[in-house]
Amino acid sequence: MKGILLALAFVCGLMCVKAQAQLNLIPAPVEYSARSGCISSKEMAGLHEKVRISQKTLLRLLKGRKLEDWQLKSAYQLELGKKGVKIVAADEEGVFYARQTLRMMASLNSSVTCCTILDWPRLRYRGVMLDESRHFQGKDFVMKQLEMMALLKMNRFHFHLVDNPGWRVQIDSYPKLTRLTAWRPQAYFWDWEKNEIGGPFVEEGTPGAYGGYYTKQDIADILSFANERHIEVIPEIEMPGHNYETRAAYPELACSLPGGGKDPWELCPGKERTFEFLEKVLLEVFDMFHSQYIHIGGDEARKNNWKVCPDCQARMKAEGLKSVEELQSYMIRRMERFAHEHGKRIIGWDEILQGGLAPDATVMSWHGIEAGLQAVKEGHDVIFTPTHYYYLDYHQDPAQFRAVGRHVPLEKVYSFEPLSESISEADAHHVLGVQGNLWTEHVQDAWHAEMMLYPRVFAIAETGWSQAEKKNWPDFERRASALSQVARKWGYTVYPPDSTRPREGCD
Ligand SMILES: [Zn+2]
Repeated sequence: MKGILLALAFVCGLMCVKAQAQLNLIPAPVEYSARSGCISSKEMAGLHEKVRISQKTLLRLLKGRKLEDWQLKSAYQLELGKKGVKIVAADEEGVFYARQTLRMMASLNSSVTCCTILDWPRLRYRGVMLDESRHFQGKDFVMKQLEMMALLKMNRFHFHLVDNPGWRVQIDSYPKLTRLTAWRPQAYFWDWEKNEIGGPFVEEGTPGAYGGYYTKQDIADILSFANERHIEVIPEIEMPGHNYETRAAYPELACSLPGGGKDPWELCPGKERTFEFLEKVLLEVFDMFHSQYIHIGGDEARKNNWKVCPDCQARMKAEGLKSVEELQSYMIRRMERFAHEHGKRIIGWDEILQGGLAPDATVMSWHGIEAGLQAVKEGHDVIFTPTHYYYLDYHQDPAQFRAVGRHVPLEKVYSFEPLSESISEADAHHVLGVQGNLWTEHVQDAWHAEMMLYPRVFAIAETGWSQAEKKNWPDFERRASALSQVARKWGYTVYPPDSTRPREGCD
């Protein structure tokens, strides 16, 4: 009998050693130390939890390590023992992240080694962007992705709500935006947009119309769900380009040219009524969203109309602007002042650097990383979302369904380092963080959107949270595989998807 017990103890010990060697947790924590004993994941669900929220106690546990205030807020120490769990944090946010760690360890490991984890984030902005204009998914889908983001300790959801193919948020002062331009006859984006010129819109309620939008109540529901998970939702209201839908609803916002001008996308910054429109829309958006930031787009305006529009030319003369780039800069600066008056800061795509950057603007660097490096040198905050690493509409496999863009497999996503050597230690605080962008030109269905997000979002989460020296591709690949299997059980489509899964909407 004694022999059997010894053998059992030996086997259990081996399991623990194995569990220790293969800690399945994303993102990897700062410090992990295994203790004796292990617990089955079933037992973890019933463990007694003792929580202490005390900055003083946490600082003592950090033993002199210097953390920024925002890091301290998210930091936690977790002690997992056979009899219970002890969490120490300076703030509720830290307790929340400790619980996410426990949740992931229990979900991914059948047996978890007793341990102590001391952990905090490397970067303050760890985000995902979803384009809901080109194809609309709706509230349940968004909440499902917020749930996964929370598990991965991601904390910013960039909501791309308006763009050429559809306006997706209720604005009471301009009801045609949702009554008319949230709906179109064709569901699939490329059936609607031909040769970079958008197709028609139809009235809400038209039989067979494709589209949808978020009511103010929907937004309130999403924000409440996100707040409980310590995720800030940042809305994007595009200007001055990507406004085909706005002009379809309110043609008077286009340049004073036949048909609004050759470029069908842009608002006219020469007209005061354009600013009146943007300010009224933003006021309603500020009322709905409580984020510190508002994203104002700023990308891909062609500006050809402005060169010949009498209103734009008059504005340039009156303001002493020498180029249409300076006219765009005038518009962004003016909108930044408006945002400041209402206690908000702006983020824009890196084109907002052209013609002079608004003083307090944060730059989302998407054309590679150079624009971001330039903005950092000029003293601006930057979020890195480089196309060739973090554009999640790019394919993971050349044979993938509706593959577009470059080949951006998981390892490539994982390899991105946001604090490149050319950023000095003194400037590093300007790098707010990282974000994966899911543009949806080719992504119509929910399963397809998830397949593009996962597992690549796991890699972005680890780059945003874990210390650079903790990153390890072979180990991450193993952990990502374990999380992928569990996520599939929870109903997420993770690349590569199960080949037996029905692909509704496939062509
Ligand atoms: Zn104009």
